[in-house]
Amino acid sequence: MYSTFAASTDADALEESAYLFNQSQHEFLSVPLSHENEHPKPHAPATVAMSGLNGLMYGQYSESSSSSIQYGDTSSESQSRTSKAGFILQKPLPYVKTETISTQEFMAGSPGIFSYDSKPSSTPELPQISEATSGTHRSSTDPVKRKTIDFRANSSIPAALSWEEFARQSILAAESSRLNPFSLHPEEYKLLREHITHAQVTVYLNIRNAILRLWTKNPLVCVTLEEASGCARDKRYFGLAKVAYHWLLRNGYINYGCVEVPNTTGIAARAKAKTSRSKTILVIGAGMSGLGCARHLEGLFTQLGEQWVSRGEQPPQVIVLEGRPRVGGRVYSHPLRNQSGSNIPLGHRCTAEMGAQIVTGFEHGNPLNAIIRGQLAIPYHGLRDNTILYDHDGTIVDKSQDTLVEKLYNDILERASIYRNKPATFRTVEGDRNLILFGRDPSDSGGATISTLESSNTPLPANASTSASTTEEKPSSGVEKLAGRAYQLTAGFNPNISAVEAAMTMGWNLKYGSTTDRTLDLNSFAKSTDYPTLGQTMDDGIRQYQEILELKPRDLRLLNWHHANLEYANAANVNQLSLSGWDQDLGNEFEGEHTQIIGGYQQVPRGLWQCPGKLDIRFKTAVKSIQYNTDESHNGKAVRVLCTNGEVFDADQIVLTTPLGVLKSGSITFQPPLPDWKQGVIERMGFGLLNKVILVYEKAFWEPDRDMFGLLNEAEHRASLDQKDYASRRGRCYLFWNCIKTSGRPTLVALMAGDAAHYAEERSNDDLVKEVTGRLLRMFAPKIVPLPTETIVTRWRRDPFACGSYSYVGPKTQAGDYDVMAKSHGPLHFAGEATCGTHPATVHGAYLSGLRAAAEVVESMIGPIKITSPLVEKKVKLEHAPQTTPNGSRPDMKRAAGPGDSNLGTYSGDGSQRENPNSQRLRDEDYEARIIGAILTEIGERPIKPGRAGVNPFLLYTKDFWPICKKECDEARKAATGDVNAKASKTDVRTAVGLRWRMATDEVKKPYLDVTQRARDEAAAYAASYKDRVATWDKKAERIRHEFIQNNPPPGGNEELLNSRTAIEMGTGKRLRRT
Ligand SMILES: Cc1cc2nc3c(=O)[nH]c(=O)nc-3n(C[C@H](O)[C@H](O)[C@H](O)COP(=O)(O)OP(=O)(O)OC[C@H]3O[C@@H](n4cnc5c(N)ncnc54)[C@H](O)[C@@H]3O)c2cc1C
Repeated sequence: MYSTFAASTDADALEESAYLFNQSQHEFLSVPLSHENEHPKPHAPATVAMSGLNGLMYGQYSESSSSSIQYGDTSSESQSRTSKAGFILQKPLPYVKTETISTQEFMAGSPGIFSYDSKPSSTPELPQISEATSGTHRSSTDPVKRKTIDFRANSSIPAALSWEEFARQSILAAESSRLNPFSLHPEEYKLLREHITHAQVTVYLNIRNAILRLWTKNPLVCVTLEEASGCARDKRYFGLAKVAYHWLLRNGYINYGCVEVPNTTGIAARAKAKTSRSKTILVIGAGMSGLGCARHLEGLFTQLGEQWVSRGEQPPQVIVLEGRPRVGGRVYSHPLRNQSGSNIPLGHRCTAEMGAQIVTGFEHGNPLNAIIRGQLAIPYHGLRDNTILYDHDGTIVDKSQDTLVEKLYNDILERASIYRNKPATFRTVEGDRNLILFGRDPSDSGGATISTLESSNTPLPANASTSASTTEEKPSSGVEKLAGRAYQLTAGFNPNISAVEAAMTMGWNLKYGSTTDRTLDLNSFAKSTDYPTLGQTMDDGIRQYQEILELKPRDLRLLNWHHANLEYANAANVNQLSLSGWDQDLGNEFEGEHTQIIGGYQQVPRGLWQCPGKLDIRFKTAVKSIQYNTDESHNGKAVRVLCTNGEVFDADQIVLTTPLGVLKSGSITFQPPLPDWKQGVIERMGFGLLNKVILVYEKAFWEPDRDMFGLLNEAEHRASLDQKDYASRRGRCYLFWNCIKTSGRPTLVALMAGDAAHYAEERSNDDLVKEVTGRLLRMFAPKIVPLPTETIVTRWRRDPFACGSYSYVGPKTQAGDYDVMAKSHGPLHFAGEATCGTHPATVHGAYLSGLRAAAEVVESMIGPIKITSPLVEKKVKLEHAPQTTPNGSRPDMKRAAGPGDSNLGTYSGDGSQRENPNSQRLRDEDYEARIIGAILTEIGERPIKPGRAGVNPFLLYTKDFWPICKKECDEARKAATGDVNAKASKTDVRTAVGLRWRMATDEVKKPYLDVTQRARDEAAAYAASYKDRVATWDKKAERIRHEFIQNNPPPGGNEELLNSRTAIEMGTGKRLRRT
């Protein structure tokens, strides 16, 4: 037959690095800007893109592009670089060697595409560091020239930005890092509570957010401690900056992924330690979690190497043991047999995704954003939600019927969501939101520490609170059919609406005799068993709706299509999903369009393996047994790992990233056996199955621009009205992905979800191809549907290195089980998607778990982040109070280093603090400051590039209706639980507001839409006049400068001053920022 069976363990899948970032793609790579690029030089195009998140982040792309293929992009220039073909072409990289780099060179770790020879890698405000790096490629083995390191308050805060704009960018950066910009992460809270006051929380958050701003602006360049210190407004806060920096660094919020990091250990110290022993960390598994962990460990050992060297040890070595002959694990892009006639950019091979395929949004915290778009600049294709559904007989389902049934499905889903577990709460402290919004520090940050206040009877300040989450609450974003993990309950639900009322509002016709107060009672299933499932409960809901509405077989097929979509997202039949916890990750979805990687998702794990230097991975080294010792007083290595190929490895600690399916299978034995709490959770958690039938054709017979199409399945008994008749078949080819734009050849991927995934494991390839072809024939008749030229069928359950597809929350899974999975046991650490409760079953979740495990390993070796005491020095009274010039500038802007600087003394190389800048420079700067003062006093700040209107009608509506919906939801929760004190969760309230908005008449919506439109018009008008206003401002500034110099001649002549402009006048730099 025509089919080829490809297994995820194929030996011919051995790594071929030639396909990794082939040199022919150089022009597509993101420009590895230093953090400097926020201050373009004069005559450079105005690239300071400060309008909205897109302008801030490298991920911006041209929305006007005619193609949806996008590349990572570092600046707002992308629009001007849009080619006719619609690709967003980058300028040739000035710093990438133009001669061809051979694969061998790349493999040998020679300076490859990521060298940036002529670019400084730090801010221009830190000339010493620039010197240290300019002209030479700073490799991880070259220590930073330590004697040149300098710490200067404010040096990482661009003067060109108003404080509000700076704050806005910093807040967005925190949100893009999954951190709440206005409150401490619970771990930060624990770390700091004994050391800082409530007011200092605000200072800390301002610094922390500003450090994240540096990182998110350009993750091709690591953030240094000096740059982090430059985020403090006063050197007294250098200690806070240091803690923030180390916390972000260790926990993988900055300097993660494929970025070169500086080695801070002196050459002499390292030479001395060379002869000494080093510890060994084994990472088992080279999937996204293992690679993420190993890469981050390497980075931390390089950046924090001094901690080991000072103890006479070398930094630990990291070895990855991988059973397969390739990296990526469940991210596997199988190369197609026929590579000719590819329609994707040169240098990318034609592949089919056997495992992960969709990046579920880059915005709002996806760590892969930095890696895919910011570091590796891998092209991707944005998916459009333009699904059409075919019925089982090949007819296209009417859109209005599809929408009607979808509303009904969401209504039942949301009625079932009342039984959802409440999210755990964590104690934390908030900063002063208003100050943070305006980029200000409190004027007085003294007082008692947080812990002192908490243990005293003194009433806590308003911002000392317990909070359930560490990320900003965000409204639900609308129903989507786009498959992928982020299938969320997006339509709102008002629990006070009876089923009949809801159905009428949706547009359903009622059966005769249905009274308006008739509603659903889901308690019979939800409360009758200890382990209720989502499927049983929803099917009961559907049955009850059938009593009210005349549901037809096609409606049942449509409802079951939605079940199949949930079964895809959860890799399990809905009857195996826990009612209370199946969507425990709700609220953590990312934002932005879903995308597919062009040329294969596996480029991402390959990048992590190879960039910036190769990780030590031992392929075909499957682990079969782990002997370990939890006794801390034990001498020698704590772990011995035995492999099926006979190799034995001794290690001090290991990070186990093998899939939950592998752990469940018992193919790895533990000596002693894992404790009950760990074995128990492995058994309780669900590990499900999803399979794919991939068909490659010579020519597309479908619409090439439609990214996917759905297919309804008939019940076991034709035209059945009984839900249970649909369960076994509903997931068969229920969705086809059209991968023509990403795989390089006309390729369809048919998803086999729920029970159908198991069916695919048992059927022969030929049977499956025949079945899928038959379905396609009906869908595309009278077109001729040829047989595929190549077929790939996945069977993830049979794969011994996966034993299934991904984890799900089964009926016996308990709240918090993902965290128990993540918990380490002695020298054994655990990572992998099934250990990431916030983003399970995803590539990004796996990656995040690797970062978490790396932080745990480091902490277990060198202890928690050290905090100096006092962390914030008391204000030093100056002998002379700072004088203010008539125009508001401060002559003492560059004060001598004070005691606060000592916090960072250990990083200053020879231990000495830097001297004052010379008095000549001070005088010049003071004079310039007076000029700037005169300009600002007369004409104010230079106009800032306008941002987006940022007004959203739904958010305005939410503001008004939140209290009403909250009250209603609280009542419903009380009724459902019988607990008079029960309160609805924020998610419930949000969904209720969502529904109300969706159901609202045009009249109700109008005022909100009008306000939004007005704001948008104003923003557009403001943007249109921006250029003129800037030109006028520049002219006036030039005039004021001249007048000032004429009237107040500076000592030593004025030639240069007359012709120069400060950064503020150019809207770019930062020197002489007003304080
Ligand atoms: C069909 C399918 C579709 C998916 N679609 C998406 C999607 O669209 N979007 C998304 O975000 N996620 C998707 N996922 C989920 C995603 O692929 C996984 O969550 C993620 O890749 C898991 O990474 P991991 O590092 O935890 O595990 P893995 O990638 O499985 O890595 C574990 C590694 O351990 C190795 N290993 C196993 N046993 C041993 C042993 N005994 N000795 C040594 N090594 C061993 C394995 O070979 C593997 O390399 C999909 C998964 C599947 C299967």
